[in-house]
Amino acid sequence: MNSNYNPDHSLVALVKCKDYNYPAVKQAVRQGLELIGFSDLFKAGEKIVLKPNLLAADPPEKCVTTHPSVFRAAAEILQETGVILSFGDSPAMSSTERAARKAGLLDVAEELGLARADFKNGQEALLPDGRQVTRFTLARGVMESDGLVSLPKFKTHALTTITGAIKNQFGCIPGTLKGEFHVKLPLPDSFAAMLVDLNRLIKPRLFIMDAIMAMDGNGPRRGRPFPMGVLLFSTDPVAMDATACRLIGLKPEAVTIIKLGELNGLGNFEAGKIDILGDFDARKDFIHSVRVSMPVTMPFKGKWLQNHLTPRPQIDPDLCLKCGVCIQMCPVKPPAVDWHNGKDMPPVHKYNHCIRCYCCQELCPEGAIKPYTPFIGRLLRKPQS
Ligand code: SF4
Ligand code: SF4
Repeated sequence: MNSNYNPDHSLVALVKCKDYNYPAVKQAVRQGLELIGFSDLFKAGEKIVLKPNLLAADPPEKCVTTHPSVFRAAAEILQETGVILSFGDSPAMSSTERAARKAGLLDVAEELGLARADFKNGQEALLPDGRQVTRFTLARGVMESDGLVSLPKFKTHALTTITGAIKNQFGCIPGTLKGEFHVKLPLPDSFAAMLVDLNRLIKPRLFIMDAIMAMDGNGPRRGRPFPMGVLLFSTDPVAMDATACRLIGLKPEAVTIIKLGELNGLGNFEAGKIDILGDFDARKDFIHSVRVSMPVTMPFKGKWLQNHLTPRPQIDPDLCLKCGVCIQMCPVKPPAVDWHNGKDMPPVHKYNHCIRCYCCQELCPEGAIKPYTPFIGRLLRKPQS
C-alpha cells in the first residue's frame, strides 16, 4: 500500500499560475508545497529522483513534456531541504539525454548540479500483492534512490483517457520493456491495473502536476496545447488525477486508472474524501480523449467487437511524412502497421493484428494518426460526462 495513502482522506492543493514566467512559477510551486506540508516528507541527505514527463524529444512550447520552469522550481525548492537530487525518465523514443535537452530540462539540471539517474538499465522489483503484475523491471536509478518525486504533465491519452500522476511512472520502466506490457496486457483494464501496481511498488513521495499548459484533443504528443493555468500538488496520485479530471469536466470514475487506483488501494477519487486547498473553475471547452465516449466498458475480447466498436488508429495521408516512426514503435511483432503500399505511400494498419495500444498515434511526430471510432461504435457512443 502507498505509504502516503490515507483511505479516508487525501489532500490536493491547486495554485493558479497563468504562464511559465519563472518567478511566478517558483512562487506558485512554493505555495503549493507549503499547503500540503512538503517539508515533513524529506530528510536531509536522502537521494531523491525527479521524474518529469519526457515522452519524446519535443520543445517546451509543444506542451508534451514537463516545462523547465516547473522542473527548476521543484528542484530548487527541494534542494533547500538538503536532499540529493537526480533526475530521469525513459522516453518512449529517443534517448533521455536528447529528450531532456530538447525539452529544456538538461540545461536546468546541469546548472543546478542534478545527476542523471540511470533510466537505461533495469533491476527486478517484486510486488507480492500486485493485483495484475507482481514482478517489474524498474530503472536502476529509481531502485537506487530513497524516493521519487513525480512531475507529470496533464494531457489526453487514447489508451488511458488521461495521462497525469498515475501514468507518469510508466517511464520508470526502461526502454522497450514498456512496449512488452502493451503486448502482454492489451486490454485497457489490465493495462490500467498494471499502472496502479507500478505506483504501489514505487510509492512516489510527492506529485507536482504541470497543468499550466495542458494538452487536449489528440494527445499525448500532438494534441492542442490547452491553457489551464494551474499547478496541482498532492501525495496521492489518484486524488490528483481525479481533481484534474474535475477541472476539465470529466467524471473521475469514467477513467479506469483512477477507478482501479481507489479499488486497489492506491488513493482516493471520491470528492468527499479529497480536501481541495485553493479554488479553480472547471473548464467546459476541453476536448476529451476519444476514449471518454467509448460505447461500452472494455474489455472487448472478440476481434469483431474490437474492429467495430473500438477506436482504431487511422493515418491522414495529407499529414503523413512517411517517416516510419509508427512502424518502428509498434510493439506487435511483426508490426500491425507496415509499408504495405511501399515506402512512397503512407503506412497501412492491419486492424486484425492491431491491439489498439495507440503507441503509433502517441508517437507520430506529425500528428498524422488519430483514433477513429467505426460507424457502429459511433452509433452506440456514450454522451460525454
Ligand atoms: S509516424 Fe506519422 S508521419 Fe511517420 S509514417 Fe507514421 S503516420 Fe506517417
Ligand atoms: S498499429 Fe498502432 S495501435 Fe495497433 S498495435 Fe501497433 S502501435 Fe498499437
